[in-house]
Amino acid sequence: MLSIEALILARFLGSRRFTGVGMGYQHTFQRHKTREVRVGDKVVGGDNPIWVQSMTTPDTYDIEATVAQIHRLEEAGCEIVRVTVPKPQDAAVLGEIRRRIHLPLICDIHFDYKMALAALDHPVDKIRINPGNIGGYDRYRQVIRKAKDKGLPMRIGVNAGSLERELVEKHGFPCPPAMVESALRYIEIAESEGYHDMIISLKSSDVITAVEACRLYAKHANYPTHIGITEAGKAPYAITKSACGLAPILLDGIGDTIRISLLGDPVPEIQAAFDILQATQRRVRKPELIACPTCGRLEIDLEGIIAQLEKRLGGRKTPIKISVLGCVVNGPGEAREADLGIAAGKGKGVIFKRGEIIRNVLESEMVDALLEEIDLWEKEEAANGTLRQEKSVGQRADGRVRLPVL
Ligand code: SF4
Repeated sequence: MLSIEALILARFLGSRRFTGVGMGYQHTFQRHKTREVRVGDKVVGGDNPIWVQSMTTPDTYDIEATVAQIHRLEEAGCEIVRVTVPKPQDAAVLGEIRRRIHLPLICDIHFDYKMALAALDHPVDKIRINPGNIGGYDRYRQVIRKAKDKGLPMRIGVNAGSLERELVEKHGFPCPPAMVESALRYIEIAESEGYHDMIISLKSSDVITAVEACRLYAKHANYPTHIGITEAGKAPYAITKSACGLAPILLDGIGDTIRISLLGDPVPEIQAAFDILQATQRRVRKPELIACPTCGRLEIDLEGIIAQLEKRLGGRKTPIKISVLGCVVNGPGEAREADLGIAAGKGKGVIFKRGEIIRNVLESEMVDALLEEIDLWEKEEAANGTLRQEKSVGQRADGRVRLPVL
């Protein structure tokens, strides 16, 4: 009978040969080339990070509640925040809210162009309107002119649920071409006013409509996009639905800001957004832990080990791939492809680093040993000048895909 080490070595060599065949393969991520638009201290579009946004839920005029929620969002990692401004008393507190927070502040306007004009008299960083419900092109032009005078950017939010009637009639229903035609029409009007600080969103609660609208838009215009699946509903289904819609958009290189719309407290939206960006490798800000689901072949306490690793890695932002699998079936192959990995056998395992076996460990030593190796890996990457410096996914010289950092 072969020893665990011999089994692992045999699978390691096998996977090495197999991987060699596919060495020419590379992931390609081409980002939709967009203009840069400044929103407060963030630059949206171009090669800048896909910023994570959210929106507050209290009445905006309730300054204490709104600011408290923004502080919680900020603590969770939110980077741009939006507040609704349906009434003059909401517009009146925008300056005070902005003074008490650190995030760029967007005011969100629906229906009343006068509210848009009023909000622009206050110190906000961006305005978001839905031109489809603001009362016609002339009113839209008035808002554009004022935003231009104030030097403020604007999000033009096209929503499948509030398209111009004539476009719905022309296309038969609020389909992606109708949404894109609407967006291009509003862009053209803004451009005719000499206004270019636009961010565009094309949202639908229907995943396929949202995906196709974003894809079609990206073929026709280069203003940055804010992406999301609108009215996704209640977590956890809403997070899964958002991921299903946003993954194809992000993997097509589209999206410059992102919001996950969840019913209720917006704070969980932030973690969900960062997880979707991490899983699509559009923005990796923490170690990627690869663990098998476990099965009857499991030979270590994998759940316990992963729980300890998650706890002890908490807050670490290194974009490192760490694989811990529970037996020799896939363990060596995954471990070799990761930056650091453990292929486990009965009560012990083998640590791989950059594709090479570096040490044997007992199960009881695995977490400590991996953390030691992560520290060492960080030091080596820092010494090489390659720690947290990449902006897009790339390929290592040895064929393993690196995680992008933003
Ligand atoms: Fe089961 Fe092993 Fe696969 Fe984990 S790696 S799921 S223990 S076969």
